[in-house]
Amino acid sequence: MTAKKTCCKTSAKKRPAVQRCYGCQCREGELHKQGCDMERCPFCGGQLISCGCCYTTLGYTHDHTLPFSGLPPEVYTNGLPSEEDDKFMSLCDMQGRIPYIVLPNLCARCGKLWPDMFHVEDEEWLFYMSGHNEEQALCRRCFNVIKRLIDTRSGLGKTYPPRVTETVAKRNREHEEYLTKMRVQLHADQQELVRVGLKTAEETAEEAVR
Ligand SMILES: [Zn+2]
Ligand SMILES: [Zn+2]
Ligand SMILES: [Zn+2]
Repeated sequence: MTAKKTCCKTSAKKRPAVQRCYGCQCREGELHKQGCDMERCPFCGGQLISCGCCYTTLGYTHDHTLPFSGLPPEVYTNGLPSEEDDKFMSLCDMQGRIPYIVLPNLCARCGKLWPDMFHVEDEEWLFYMSGHNEEQALCRRCFNVIKRLIDTRSGLGKTYPPRVTETVAKRNREHEEYLTKMRVQLHADQQELVRVGLKTAEETAEEAVR
């Protein structure tokens, strides 16, 4: 196969052979130091310090639309007691903690390394990318090329912004409803915490500002 010219040159950035984690300084191949925000969760693949598996694997309910996210108020406020924290870490050990490895992001179209992030409304992204593995990363330039190609060649006779498809509209509506439910619950939780004396009104007011 002959090498075709791509729309974005592969980044010439030199990267060291073995990198260190920004969070805890461990090297690639090593386990993160406990509590590092870069560690992935061996149960769900999300961010270990925020994913909620520490609750669900220990038998708690974790659902942001329930009072205190479904947790006992003390756990909601202060986190797990340390013995339960330890128990969760040994569950992670058994499941197989995920060592630090750097897998670079690539533009899915041209292969450019570490494409700069850019902002596109979800609706616009899905309009052009639905059915084309919409989870992948693209460089800005390739996204613009894709837009232009679809707009001029597809014969669909429409450019963004389109009529929003029913699927996208439904997805947006459901997301909005979820966020509203969450906000209402968060407010109720804070008032309840003040009522039972786990937090002061000043603390919850401070949190609301953040
Ligand atoms: Zn780390
Ligand atoms: Zn998880
Ligand atoms: Zn590209």
